[in-house]
Amino acid sequence: MLKDIFKKIDQERELSKEDIVCLLALKDEQELARLYDRADTVRQKYVGDEVHLRGLIEFSNYCRKNCNYCGIRRGNRKLQRYRMSAEEILATVAVAERLGYKTVVLQSGEDMYYTVGKLVDIIRRIKQEADVAITLSIGERSREEYERLHEAGADRFLIRFETSNRELYSRLHPDSDYDERMQILVWLKEIGYQVGSGVMIGLPGQTLEDLAMDILKFKELDLDMVGVGPYICHEETPLAGNANGTVEMTFKVIALTRIVTRDAHIPATTALATLRPTDGREKALELGANVVMPNVTPAKYRALYELYPAKVCIGEEAEQCQACMHGRIYSLGRPISQGYGHSFKRAHLLPQYG
Ligand code: SAH
Ligand code: SF4
Repeated sequence: MLKDIFKKIDQERELSKEDIVCLLALKDEQELARLYDRADTVRQKYVGDEVHLRGLIEFSNYCRKNCNYCGIRRGNRKLQRYRMSAEEILATVAVAERLGYKTVVLQSGEDMYYTVGKLVDIIRRIKQEADVAITLSIGERSREEYERLHEAGADRFLIRFETSNRELYSRLHPDSDYDERMQILVWLKEIGYQVGSGVMIGLPGQTLEDLAMDILKFKELDLDMVGVGPYICHEETPLAGNANGTVEMTFKVIALTRIVTRDAHIPATTALATLRPTDGREKALELGANVVMPNVTPAKYRALYELYPAKVCIGEEAEQCQACMHGRIYSLGRPISQGYGHSFKRAHLLPQYG
């Protein structure tokens, strides 16, 4: 049985839900090593050795939503809130550019203070002043707003669907709708964004079947980027007291996401590094991942962007993160990309970006 599944992988045939569940259930170290080795081979064949760096700017921790797992949900009254001004954001983009990052990711809670007009202005100014690709991760907006942000110059958009299990989705999201979330992913692609999505691993009540369906969904949506990380319990949420996701399950999902999607960009996430600071990201890069998102948020705001507790690197300035990440990546013998790191699925876009 297992032998047949590995054969399917080697022959690049599609895996069924049952195959994926079987691999997610692996415990044997040798079998796991085999799985990770296959994922690394697929990674090398389809996306090469280069590691792409994206400078992450967490520009506001205000949020109108109340997702049950998230530490910056509006119901968390203990959190001190902050917003970065357009000038602060531009100064941070300049730091990211100086550190060699060719992409900046602007992430925030769903903060309507940043009207589409304000965001358009920020995006235009970034494009005038810096030579970087722009990724937005600002949550749900109307189709028209996404269109205007794209016209202003936003290249990519990240919005996770969090889980493909509708029932689990609705239990976790008192104020979001599964179908609307999925609709947004379709719109973003139609508008022309490079689209990233993903899920959390180890959500309370999540099963291996759910994770297998998540992985098949990544493929079905033909995502340009897939970010998966462990769920980490935050005590100031309704899910207080639940167990965290595990590093091992996260590794398995990353490896299978690589094998199933082949050429999607896959980041080694901060949540993973938080649960395994010593070598979580390095290991992820050796079993399918090809992207890292070093934090460039000014140090004074970092601890306040607390999606989950004890995020790594909250005391560090951008320069320290850069030196640390470079060292970690070079220690693996992998080169750091000097390009924008656009989607491998949109090769036709490359000439236009030079
Ligand atoms: N507000 C935007 C972007 C910020 S949240 C949005 O929701 O899309 C970015 C991601 O952080 C979420 O998609 C979720 O997957 C992740 N996240 C939130 N709380 C988390 C937790 N407790 N543990 C792990 N990841 C979490
Ligand atoms: Fe807000 Fe995003 Fe957290 Fe949900 S996950 S509460 S939308 S920041």
